[in-house]
Amino acid sequence: MGQLFKNYIGGKWVGARSGKTFSNLNPANTDDLVGRFPLSDSKDINLAVVAAKKAYASWNEVPLPERGDIIMRARDILIRDKQELAKHMTREMGKVLKETLGDVQEAIDMAGFIAGEGRRLYGETTPSELANKFCMTVRAPIGVCGLITPWNFPMAIPSWKVLPAILCGNTVVFKPAEDTPLSSIRMIQALERAGLPPGVVNLVCGYGETAGAALVDHPDVSLISFTGSCEVGREVASKCGQDLKRVSLEMGGKNAQIVMDDADLELAIEGAVWGAFGTTGQRCTATSRLIVHEKVVAKFTKMLVARAKKVSVGDGLKKNIEMGPIINEKQLKQVLNYIEIGKKEGAKLLCGGKRLDKGKFKKGFFVEPTVFTNVTPKMRIAQEEIFGPVVSIIKVKSLAEAIKVHNGTDYGLSSSIYTRDVNQAFQALTKMEAGLTYVNGPTIGAEVHLPFGGVKNTGNGHREGGKTVVDIFTEWRAIFFDYSGKLQKAQIDD
Ligand code: NAD
Repeated sequence: MGQLFKNYIGGKWVGARSGKTFSNLNPANTDDLVGRFPLSDSKDINLAVVAAKKAYASWNEVPLPERGDIIMRARDILIRDKQELAKHMTREMGKVLKETLGDVQEAIDMAGFIAGEGRRLYGETTPSELANKFCMTVRAPIGVCGLITPWNFPMAIPSWKVLPAILCGNTVVFKPAEDTPLSSIRMIQALERAGLPPGVVNLVCGYGETAGAALVDHPDVSLISFTGSCEVGREVASKCGQDLKRVSLEMGGKNAQIVMDDADLELAIEGAVWGAFGTTGQRCTATSRLIVHEKVVAKFTKMLVARAKKVSVGDGLKKNIEMGPIINEKQLKQVLNYIEIGKKEGAKLLCGGKRLDKGKFKKGFFVEPTVFTNVTPKMRIAQEEIFGPVVSIIKVKSLAEAIKVHNGTDYGLSSSIYTRDVNQAFQALTKMEAGLTYVNGPTIGAEVHLPFGGVKNTGNGHREGGKTVVDIFTEWRAIFFDYSGKLQKAQIDD
């Protein structure tokens, strides 16, 4: 039957009103049932929004440093339980234990970073154009925030949203990805145990088209913060646009690593392997294109293929495994389909390309690490997000051409250049259209205290992480304090 988990609404763990559940399977072994979770719909979302609305006023009475203290206590719990949380996460979504430990660590880092904001959340004072008048700005919370997250960072991404949202004084209804509800429940349990008052965070499990859509549509939700695919993000944004609801979007990427002819090739290969095959290529920042100078492309390709063939694939809980399974069958089909598209487009498959389904792989969604060469910039495999362990090598003649190819997609999340020439590095980092740029490092590896997000179709101008995250979860109020004792009129000649 599997363990039955519940929604968290108004400080209580409750099943879906309908009584229905859905199953969550281990993608490395589908005989392993991780648990059953409430199949929630608009009724459950409504109850959660009511609870969040009710808690809003009293939560705002809690001084910010005290809110930060609760988050710090939750951080201590995450630190204490890190190993166990990571094991559950690997079982739930497949990435290797080293990476799920990193995922929990990111939530710990975010908790530490944002709790400190409880003693800052600075506003400004500024002169007035009139005498005996004082002007200042303060940040105010927005209201009930609807948070919708994907499955590839099951605790890190929720932490980027839930923790800043509540620190700033908002209350939350959180709809985690249907593939990873367990890790989200674990994070909310840490907040509960840390003393978070009932109703401040409410968690509702369920599918996007039902529970997610109901959250977006709910009139009492003031803000939607969404991370996921462009396709869904577009729909979420247009609904929010109709309702004049605030919306922050973090979406897909088609990230590239440029390798120049003077690069340290060993280093560039290590970066490419980690960027392309880490998290089984299922990171929004994954390296999907390798744009390589023609003078080194032959050597680089040979080295990469040799290394890709050695990547050990398997159950992420087992020792020495470097790459786990794909998240689910639908995503597996998408990855295999893109591999076929690449072959039909005329790209040359150098290694990988097949599903692994024999022996120890029989019950899971495994694909070989895959490398294509002879890829041209306009091919679909060089343009569309694959979200799997598939990387394309594109040959270029110059830095200018490399940057042009880099910028030639609709996305703009992460970018990287390997070169020893500082002039080339600076040329690239000023001209590459991306929210994140790494010099002599792979496209993956964000840190919580820096702004995170992308340009073009990757986002809509917001940045999570860093001090910029509070711009999403607060709005500015300008305050004019007149202590002259008379009516003073701004801009009016007397
Ligand atoms: P997805 O868009 O399918 O789902 C994301 C979330 O949206 C899930 O919780 C899902 O249930 C919900 N959802 C689905 N349909 C909905 C609807 N109609 N209304 C409201 N909610 C709905 O994405 P995914 O497959 O979970 O994640 C992979 C995608 O996420 C990739 O495109 C990846 O690049 C992107 N991603 C982006 C970032 C970033 O920060 N830019 C980070 C991680 C993942």
